[in-house]
Amino acid sequence: MKVWLQEMRWEEVRDHLQKDDVVIIPVGSTEQHGTHLPLGTDSMVAIALAEDAAKEAGALVAPPIWFGWSPHHMAYPGTITIRPETLIELIMDVCRSLIYHGFHRLIILNGHRVANMAPLTIAATRLREQTGAYVAVADPFFIGDRIGREVRESEPGGLGHADELETSHLLYFTGELADMSKARKRIGAVGRFCYFHLHDPLIEADSVFLSSTAEEFKRKTAPTGVSGDPTLATREKGERYHRAVVENLVALIEEARATNVSIKGTEIPV
Ligand SMILES: [Zn+2]
Repeated sequence: MKVWLQEMRWEEVRDHLQKDDVVIIPVGSTEQHGTHLPLGTDSMVAIALAEDAAKEAGALVAPPIWFGWSPHHMAYPGTITIRPETLIELIMDVCRSLIYHGFHRLIILNGHRVANMAPLTIAATRLREQTGAYVAVADPFFIGDRIGREVRESEPGGLGHADELETSHLLYFTGELADMSKARKRIGAVGRFCYFHLHDPLIEADSVFLSSTAEEFKRKTAPTGVSGDPTLATREKGERYHRAVVENLVALIEEARATNVSIKGTEIPV
């Protein structure tokens, strides 16, 4: 069975909608991922998870969105960032188009972790209020929280960016794009106030949000762009993580199907 919308013909979409109305929208980023991972890592993560979950659950996947909110990563070449307002509007137009055609249960699958979450949750909240559709935002880091804690071996600060988990995951589904000979550990000094600013979401600690400018980010992550410890990454960890997250996504799709939806707005975005 085909799962990607862009590979289908319109009559196939029409026929599929007679039976099911769930669609996954993968969203990622194009941004530096250290010297060992490709720029498209976040998008590839969302694509791989969406494809496997959709195959298992019999759902469809919309064309992926390869851009996210990445201003701090502009410190390294190749990064493309779009403004959060652009991302909100883009997601809303894509989802409104899908809702118009009868996809009434939508799962936005974010591979870019916390940076995309604010714009995506704003878009999802507006869409639910305005259309009545079921619109959920799932991020592997959060929908895979328990398996992430189980799998990780790194010290506090070992997860951040291009880290142990993210590298393990990419090694699992497209390992040929990684160069592990270039993977370097980079964990900032653990000082008196450090825990407030750890970027590691799987560590129990009190924290505050303080964004980094591109210059500060470069200083904190030089010379590779990594935050965390990718040297502990393995394909096996990535496989365990991937399977558990796919399982949770399938459960989320079932939940969406079991949820009553009453559509109130199906305008064409103009
Ligand atoms: Zn990433």
